[in-house]
Amino acid sequence: MLVSDLNHFLDLPDDVPAPAGRLAQHFGNIVRAATAGDRVGDRWTSALPCRRRPAHRPCPGRIAIVRCDPPTPIQWRCSVCADEGVISNWEDSPYDLRRRRLTAVGTVNEVIIADEVAAALRELLLLDPDCERLVFSMRAYRNGGAVLHASNDDLEELIEFVAAEANHESNRRRQRRLDVAFDALNTAAQTRW
Ligand SMILES: [Zn+2]
Repeated sequence: MLVSDLNHFLDLPDDVPAPAGRLAQHFGNIVRAATAGDRVGDRWTSALPCRRRPAHRPCPGRIAIVRCDPPTPIQWRCSVCADEGVISNWEDSPYDLRRRRLTAVGTVNEVIIADEVAAALRELLLLDPDCERLVFSMRAYRNGGAVLHASNDDLEELIEFVAAEANHESNRRRQRRLDVAFDALNTAAQTRW
């Protein structure tokens, strides 16, 4: 059981060793997923992949999460291997996506996307808080892929963010990932009912 204080992973220096940086990102993503939705006290399985590589292969598990009200630490556990832990001092951190106000929600579409598309969305840098909540509240879909819950307006907005970032991306490989994500979301937007 990994017991982590989120404060120790915030504002890491630029020259932090890669494993520590990856761990900080992993914990940050768990806190974002835990706080993106309105689920309090329920265990749910997010689309976040497990970080472990038993026998040099990625663990196929997803991160299951329980979030209660602060100061209770966020609990997380891989759905496949034994990796698990708690994260304290998550409230009011930069990763805390809890809503400050209630917003009206229209019809919500359920969009199934591939894991690679989900990963590309998590890496978007320009997201506003509403889109960040959409991306980090994605659930695991069966044995692969992620479920995105988005209203038509949300989906349009997310597509615009992906397009804007793809246009400004100088790294070819990353631009291709964003193009794939753009196509997947556009197809979903055109086939919704
Ligand atoms: Zn695992």
